Amino acid sequence: MQVAKEEVEKMDEIDLCLGTNEKKDIVQYVEKYLQKQEQSQIDDVFQTKEYSDFGSVTYTEKVRAVIKVQDGCDRFCSYCLIPYARGRVRSRKPENVVSEIKSIAQKGIKEVVVTGIHVASYGKDFKKDYQLIDLLEEINQIEGIERIRLRLNRATFDK
Ligand code: SF4
Repeated sequence: MQVAKEEVEKMDEIDLCLGTNEKKDIVQYVEKYLQKQEQSQIDDVFQTKEYSDFGSVTYTEKVRAVIKVQDGCDRFCSYCLIPYARGRVRSRKPENVVSEIKSIAQKGIKEVVVTGIHVASYGKDFKKDYQLIDLLEEINQIEGIERIRLRLNRATFDK
C-alpha cells in the first residue's frame, strides 16, 4: 500500500487504504470508515522518526512470544522495496521491550523471539550508544526467560 497507492486505490474491491504509519490505529480507521467519516490515509513514512509502539499484544503460543523491537531499514539494497514501504530505522524503547517481556514471563512465556525489519540496526536511531547486544543482555536478566532467539530476516548481522 505504501509504495503503490494509486494502483491499489483503483481496485473496486478495496474500501479503505492505510499506510505503514496507520497500522497502529487500524481499528479506529475502520470504525470511521464504517461511519463514512474517513477516507484512505497513507502518510509519508519517511517523516516518521520514532518507533510506533503497539504496546502489549496477545500471544497465542503457550511458551514462546515473538517480540518486534525495530522497524524500517536504511540500507536501500537495489532490489528491495522495504525501505520505501517501512521507512527509516526506528527502534522500540528498551524499557518498553523489557517491560513487556517481564510481563509475559510472569504469565509463563519462557522463550522470546526478538525480531524486526533489520534488527541488526536496533539502536542506530537512539541518541545514546545502545545496541542490540545491550537489549539482549537486559532481556537475558529477566527472570523466567530461558531462551532468546534472534530472527534476522534476510538482513546480515553486520554491526
Ligand atoms: S537490508 Fe534487507 S530490508 Fe534492508 S534494503 Fe536490504 S534487503 Fe531490504
